[in-house]
Amino acid sequence: MKKTGIIFGKFYPIHMGHVDFIQKASGLIDELYVVVCSDNTRDKDLFKKSKMKKMPTIKDRLNFVESIFKYQNNIKIIHLAEDGIPFYPNGWKLWSERVFETLLKNNIKVDVIFSNEPQDVENYKNNFLTLPNSEKVFSKNLKIQTIDINRDNFPISATEVRNSPYHNWDFMPKPVQEFFAVKVAIIGTPHSGKTTLVHKLSNCYNTNFVEDYKKKYSQKNNLKNLEEKDFQHIAQKHQEKISKSIKNSNKLIFIDTEFCSLQANLLELDKKRK
Ligand code: NAD
Repeated sequence: MKKTGIIFGKFYPIHMGHVDFIQKASGLIDELYVVVCSDNTRDKDLFKKSKMKKMPTIKDRLNFVESIFKYQNNIKIIHLAEDGIPFYPNGWKLWSERVFETLLKNNIKVDVIFSNEPQDVENYKNNFLTLPNSEKVFSKNLKIQTIDINRDNFPISATEVRNSPYHNWDFMPKPVQEFFAVKVAIIGTPHSGKTTLVHKLSNCYNTNFVEDYKKKYSQKNNLKNLEEKDFQHIAQKHQEKISKSIKNSNKLIFIDTEFCSLQANLLELDKKRK
């Protein structure tokens, strides 16, 4: 018989402790559902109290988890909206009912709940197994399994990541790092030393830089004067290079000129034409 497990979490944001937990749980079961929970009011409030520079939306949080586990077919990601339910731990009954409806709708039957919160073990059993028609979603022998309650493998919490994302950089999986990486654009008039500054800064901060693609494009194609069609190509290529470079950056990247400068160049060209 196929065994199905489930893990609930806010994953706000997902960190290496979560990844390790999901990875280990997925090895103990045939199919694992990771339920990413959201509550608009709570999530906004957590963001306000945090030091995160931008708020990962529920879509972002789902994307992070999906992209981390995209090559593991036995890990499935679903969303649970908790809006309207009193916050944990005061809403167990309503929350269990919402979980039940969602799992029933998705035709999911659960044998094992994985949680690293020992205080929740009894609550899961008491609330899930006493629901009317509970057997439609939860196995009679429902097991609640903990894996690393002391966070021995990755001593980190999502609160710590939210409160100090850059200090906890190494605990962030790649897609989360990419989200939080800061883009610093160096702008200035021609020949003011932007390129040199970008190289120096990227060395000092041990991170990537993105070259001025307009300069490279002009040199490569031996062009003295650019035309409108060139700008579209340059902007697109420049953006591709930024997206590639940010994937492996160390907290920030330095960009030699940016789109406002490019747009200003184009407007300048338009003016000359008129
Ligand atoms: P979370 O994202 O903080 O953690 C998810 C899981 O990962 C948990 O089991 C946690 O113990 C484990 N984990 C965290 N850090 C770890 C580390 N470093 N190493 C190993 N494991 C680690 O999520 P959460 O806050 O536990 O999520 C529970 C969700 O269930 C919330 O959305 C909550 O609202 C909901 N809930 C609500 C009620 C209610 O009364 N309203 C009741 C129960 C559950």
